Amino acid sequence: AGRLKGKIAVVTAAGQGIGRAIAEAFVAEGATVHASDLDRSKLEGLARARKSKLDVMSTRAVEAYAQKIGPIDILVNVAGYVHHGTVLETSEKDWDFSFDLNVKSMHRTIRAFLPGMLARAKENGSSGSIVNLSSGASSIKGAPNRYAYGATKAAVIGLTKSVAMDFIRQGIRCNAICPGTVRSPSWEGRVEDLGKTAGGTDKAMEMFVSRQPMGRVGEASEIAALALYLAADESAFTTGTAIPIDGGWTL
Ligand code: NAD
Repeated sequence: AGRLKGKIAVVTAAGQGIGRAIAEAFVAEGATVHASDLDRSKLEGLARARKSKLDVMSTRAVEAYAQKIGPIDILVNVAGYVHHGTVLETSEKDWDFSFDLNVKSMHRTIRAFLPGMLARAKENGSSGSIVNLSSGASSIKGAPNRYAYGATKAAVIGLTKSVAMDFIRQGIRCNAICPGTVRSPSWEGRVEDLGKTAGGTDKAMEMFVSRQPMGRVGEASEIAALALYLAADESAFTTGTAIPIDGGWTL
């Protein structure tokens, strides 16, 4: 415990799944954690965190939230949505929604929080860390029926590298996490959906598991462990990376 002692962290989409596990890990390591989600009720039970409703698709809401919180050390952008389909099943509306929620949301939060992060890094002589949730389905790997999703997560990697480069001498690091399949409420929904056409939930589960060379899906706590490392000063020499954590999916 204490790896994030004295740090102030913001985690979006912290209501469930990976975001929730990250918020819990940060609290356990001594950070002051501002946990937000579109659905405030999902944050209930998240102990010792400051909880707020935040829609990362609203520029105004994100700016007001950053204003209220003030300077921070760690920003973790988790909010994201998985659109299912090929290019032929992706309308312009689907495309725009995916890019708004998965990519522009990060543009909003980084623009809103970075000035305070820069000021705090300068003042404390410490380093600020931005961690963005990308995916193995991105510029790393093509996944079936992940046309819009894969494009957004590739954009996240590009955005991450740009931010890393522009602020590398000013005490700010920026890295992306690229998970394979991870157990979460929305993933369980995707398994159920696939089960409708693939002969049942068990069969669908098998399909997801079989594409993982390790023979299992990941746990949110395993992704949180990497987020914790990237947030903490122990990773001070790491910036601009896109790190796969995927049970061998991209191997
Ligand atoms: P999830 O999809 O189960 O939960 C998403 C959370 O985001 C929910 O709590 C929801 O209320 C919140 N949310 C939705 N719209 C929002 C908005 N506009 N503003 C704020 N919050 C909003 O969580 P997950 O499956 O752990 O995924 C988290 C992130 O990790 C996503 O970016 C996802 O793309 C990425 N990821 C997940 C997996 C996986 O297999 N689970 C794999 C690779 C990448």
